[in-house]
Amino acid sequence: MLVNSHLALLATILSVAALAAPAAPTTPDRYVLVHAGTLLAVPGRPAEREMTIVVKNDRVAGVVRGFLDATAAGLPSGATVDLIDLRDRFVLPGLMDAHVHLIHEPSFTRRRTERGDRNPPTSAEGAVNTVVYARRTLAAGFTTVRDLGSDDQAVFAVRNAINAGRMIGPRILVSGSALAVTGGHGDSLPLDGTGDPQSRLRDGTCDGPMECRAAVRYQYKLGADVIKFTSTGGFGSNTGLDPQLFADEIEAIVSSAHLVGLKAATHAYSAIAIKQAVRAGVDSIEHGFLVDDEGLALMKKAGTFLVPTLSASYPPPIFRIADPESVRIRNEHQAFERARAAGVKIAFGSDAGTFAHGDNAKEFGLMVKFGMSPMDAIRSATVATADLFGLAGEVGTVEPGKLADLVALAGNPLDDVAALLHIDFVMKGGRVAKQDGRMIEPFTYLPPSASF
Ligand SMILES: [Zn+2]
Repeated sequence: MLVNSHLALLATILSVAALAAPAAPTTPDRYVLVHAGTLLAVPGRPAEREMTIVVKNDRVAGVVRGFLDATAAGLPSGATVDLIDLRDRFVLPGLMDAHVHLIHEPSFTRRRTERGDRNPPTSAEGAVNTVVYARRTLAAGFTTVRDLGSDDQAVFAVRNAINAGRMIGPRILVSGSALAVTGGHGDSLPLDGTGDPQSRLRDGTCDGPMECRAAVRYQYKLGADVIKFTSTGGFGSNTGLDPQLFADEIEAIVSSAHLVGLKAATHAYSAIAIKQAVRAGVDSIEHGFLVDDEGLALMKKAGTFLVPTLSASYPPPIFRIADPESVRIRNEHQAFERARAAGVKIAFGSDAGTFAHGDNAKEFGLMVKFGMSPMDAIRSATVATADLFGLAGEVGTVEPGKLADLVALAGNPLDDVAALLHIDFVMKGGRVAKQDGRMIEPFTYLPPSASF
């Protein structure tokens, strides 16, 4: 009884304290009504004409037929309501790219190599590049991207600045350094530096299951959203396309990522490495050019995504890769076409960074050229990527409860996906970033009093 009375007294004190405390300042709800001439709310389902999207703060509150005003939409009287007129536009969910490298692109690398400098960008250069390229990526209509393998911590810093509202850019899921074995695709350590454990961790170089577990945990500690590892050689490193990891190393990386709730993505060309990774439970195969039919069957059964990165081969690579073999092998094996025919899940990924950031949407044209319908190509960059990222409840469609990520363009991308190269309106999380073809959000949109 004594305990109960003490509790009752405590409750009284707390409620009095609550009454006496000044009311917490509340920001009034912001509403935006978007009038969409055509709306593809859920890629895979038909687009609809003359729709209103009701945005409340950062999320979609409703999607209704007709062009509604605030009263008709049932918004609270006195609420702050903006109207965005896209009645002559095609509106769809923000696009997503599952495979980019934001620290560099050919224009930057060419300038360096002209001076004889063949080193990767320094962390400082990588951070500045990422700021610029992230903004360009958002302007192209990509509101969420996955950065798969950018050495050191530059992309983490930019991701954090975007998430804190200090600058504008897409939502970035960061892998940090791609994990690779000594001498593998992604090992960028100098010959005399491989023995230093800290350098190995920072570079993502690991040999054997135990060291590979530690490598995953190091990227996790840095703040990684996803783990990237290279199972085979690649065009960029002239290390061939054969397996480089043992099955126990692949298993150690994938299970360590999953243990802490991260997805695992692997760069893989050889059919053997692809099957080992799928058996270990990897979430996506990046590139996957040499996948065999058994590998495709395993991927379909396990629900593993293929991220085709067709753009990295077309036009012929000019950045480090300098290898028309990439085109020849892609065309000969047609992994993308065969994966589609086998019913394997495909998530849009362009490998932007091997070509200019902001040109990500060129991948749509290649997907359609190789047999995919425009609707399925758009679905791969919205619904499918959201599923691969584990964000199906947050992004990928324009439906109540989802983050308000919208893009718009003239023309109809279901008739011609090339229209997606000309996104002229971008909203990310309820904030307009681009309107009438121009980025309108100031670079920093915090009030001047806010300090960092
Ligand atoms: Zn890549």
